[in-house]
Amino acid sequence: MSLVIVGSVAFDTIETPWERKEKIVGGSCTYCALAASYFTRPKIVAVVGEDFPKQTIRLFKKRNIDLEGLKIVPGGKTFFWEGRYGFDPNQRSTIRTELNVFQDFRPEIPPAYKKADILFLANIDPDLQENICRQVEKPKLVAMDTMRLWIESKPAALRRVLKQVDILFANDEEIRMLTEERNLIKAGKKILGQGPTLVIVKKGEHGALVFGESLVFGIMAHPCEDVVDPTGAGDSFAGGFLGYLDRVKRFGKKEIRRAAVYGSVLASFTIEDFGINRFRSLTKREIAGRFLHFKRLVSF
Ligand code: AMP
Repeated sequence: MSLVIVGSVAFDTIETPWERKEKIVGGSCTYCALAASYFTRPKIVAVVGEDFPKQTIRLFKKRNIDLEGLKIVPGGKTFFWEGRYGFDPNQRSTIRTELNVFQDFRPEIPPAYKKADILFLANIDPDLQENICRQVEKPKLVAMDTMRLWIESKPAALRRVLKQVDILFANDEEIRMLTEERNLIKAGKKILGQGPTLVIVKKGEHGALVFGESLVFGIMAHPCEDVVDPTGAGDSFAGGFLGYLDRVKRFGKKEIRRAAVYGSVLASFTIEDFGINRFRSLTKREIAGRFLHFKRLVSF
């Protein structure tokens, strides 16, 4: 099996009520690929500028991430995003977005990626997501994520992508905006009629809900006393979820449930440190330990 991830590789400036970090590495593709790399060998499609740190490229290589689809633009500047969190880690505002090399990015899938079994369209411009969909030959599973910016600025393109995907990852605010429905169960059901057969609604520190035609599954978030930086939790969830499915090569209900728990486990590690720092030391053993801990937390 193989997992192709398309999304942003970025510099982020993050402000929490306690600390501010300037220009650290982030991006939807970055978090997702790092999380998935504990289960499979993800292939990424993204673009960065020449200013992107070699040290992070070395980390990607160390985690065995396939970088054939990572374009480095000579003299270019990497995509930049600045976000600010309030006391409630689920509340975030975007302060600044600079597209930089993304402005003229026309993603090209390397021939070796075209037969991907799982395609993840992480959060980027829906026009780019659509373009990628056209280049991949009949994947077994296509999943997508998005954000408020695209729901508001490119709703038509977003709807076209939605029609082509099997799984939508969205947070509670995004799914309410997409469906104009306050109740999350009704919102999830509405999305099921618009393309996806599975919807995963992420509720930050309250966990996630998985909806399918005949499946409703709730996962709690790992009780974390010290949320250092919530950035990338959603992408890490998707990476753990899809990386696990790619490894087990089956998409039945049991696998979906376990994938969701792995998603939650990976997200819980990401938020323990700023940016991608936690991935520098995270081990498979720690992941297995937290998976078991989750099991004990919810069995009665
Ligand atoms: P998450 O916290 O999982 O929603 O994802 C946060 C990541 O999304 C950050 O590391 C940002 O670099 C990235 N991001 C923010 N805005 C955009 C955007 N407009 N397009 C692509 N990626 C973005």
